[in-house]
Amino acid sequence: MSGPWNAGPAEQRPSRLRATLRRQFAPPTIVLLYHRVVPEAGRDVNLLATSTANFVAHLDWLAANTRPLRVAEFLGSLGRSGVSQLSFDGGKPRVLITFDDGYADNFHHALPLLAERGLEAIVFPLAEPIGTGQPFWWDALEQVVFDGQPASGGWKLPNGTLVPAHADRSITYRVIHATLKPLPDDARRKALSDLAEQSGLRPQATADSRPMNWRELRGWAAAGLSVGGHAWTHSQLSALSVDEICEEIAGCKRALEQRLGLPVDTFAYPFGGRDDFDALCEDAVRSAGFSCAFANRPGNARWARSRYALPRCLVRNWTGDELAEHMQRWCRP
Ligand SMILES: [Zn+2]
Repeated sequence: MSGPWNAGPAEQRPSRLRATLRRQFAPPTIVLLYHRVVPEAGRDVNLLATSTANFVAHLDWLAANTRPLRVAEFLGSLGRSGVSQLSFDGGKPRVLITFDDGYADNFHHALPLLAERGLEAIVFPLAEPIGTGQPFWWDALEQVVFDGQPASGGWKLPNGTLVPAHADRSITYRVIHATLKPLPDDARRKALSDLAEQSGLRPQATADSRPMNWRELRGWAAAGLSVGGHAWTHSQLSALSVDEICEEIAGCKRALEQRLGLPVDTFAYPFGGRDDFDALCEDAVRSAGFSCAFANRPGNARWARSRYALPRCLVRNWTGDELAEHMQRWCRP
């Protein structure tokens, strides 16, 4: 029988083939994406919150059925296109835990649960909102649309469009969100301020829903957990100019490193979907000095096309059994 399988001892085979075989038969590496961990998930139009009870069930299930990775171990395993160096031992899926946006509840509720189990995680905070005490823009919009009432029967957007106040406010929310998402930050701020004025209310953040402050972020790092970049504001990078993209990406790294006194090596794209970043953004992340970047698309990190487009699996407010079902699906070859 001929072919690459008996072409010679493993060390003489082309390294690309060995890398492929290694990735084919090694256990999957799944990067989990959380946003919030709160005692009780209330109204949550973007489905970002996981209850602490469910989060505990997730951690217990992960401890029993997977091998949670240390951040340095994950980074050390990265090849040019995703995870390639992890050993085969045990056969359990590898899991890395991450949090996007930098909600204060990560520090108050998730950190103690992670620390008591000796688990690591990366938090990707937006740099500009740190310590402002103001709600993230999508949460401010949620309050405006769900708790406010536009005087004229509809919401007037800066481009002149009138969005009807639909009986199902989640529909209204999604229409306005889709309009604000691609705007540069200053234009979005202005639009939100106009909408808040129309609603007659001032959006507020709670102790859990506000962005972390610098003291909390330092506490997160002091506990041995990792901090990465998530851009300066939560803008859709692919919709911005080149200069804006570079400033969003390099600016967040600069601010975090200066204020924390630590290297910030990892990045997560805001929104992180297929249309939210492109090759230009990946180049900007590489040029800014980040060593890898995470998307928000499910998949096995072993099969990433690039270390600057690593898949991540979005976790909802699921029970432990529901997480197990999703893990099975994500781990399928
Ligand atoms: Zn985000």
